[in-house]
Amino acid sequence: MAKEKKALTLRIIGDPVLHQIAKPVEKIDDSLVDLAQEMLNMMYKSNGIGLAAPQAGVSLRMFVLDIEPPEDEEGHPLPVNSPGEIQLLPQMPLAFINPEVTPIGTEESDYDEGCLSVPKLYATVRRPAKVMLKATLLDGREICIECGGLLARAIQHENDHLDGVVFVQKLEDEPLDSIKKGLDKILKKNGKSNYKLKRLNKA
Ligand SMILES: [Zn+2]
Repeated sequence: MAKEKKALTLRIIGDPVLHQIAKPVEKIDDSLVDLAQEMLNMMYKSNGIGLAAPQAGVSLRMFVLDIEPPEDEEGHPLPVNSPGEIQLLPQMPLAFINPEVTPIGTEESDYDEGCLSVPKLYATVRRPAKVMLKATLLDGREICIECGGLLARAIQHENDHLDGVVFVQKLEDEPLDSIKKGLDKILKKNGKSNYKLKRLNKA
């Protein structure tokens, strides 16, 4: 008899599943492949480029990405510099299982991030510009590759979700102030007004 499958729903900041450490994936089976596909569907529906399993209400260490290779305004491909962008972008969409992300070097970059779990709010986050990504892909391939550009940015954002961290927790005072009203609105609308934002790197 077929098991009744519960539809996944996009989780919004304040939902407990977004604020806990996700569990490692133990094996790649059909249900994991299905989950990755459902996550992609959810992501495309909201025009996102990345989604982590906790955002779909599943506390597992997996995220999906679909990042287009960069182009100029006339549609000509722009050069990418990191081995990760060169190898992975043409293969997207991809699911990354049990990822380990380690910053490389000391260079940092600023970028306006958004998150499907914090709808329509964008703010500047400073992060390492390059990271080493170690992960397993859905077909069982193991990768360990240096990533830069938007790919490095997205990997760090999604990997944070697996550790229960939403990007707004990483904001400096000014960018946080700029979205504070919008954030309160989202929390109120979703019945999470008692959620207390725990800021990181702050005393
Ligand atoms: Zn996010």
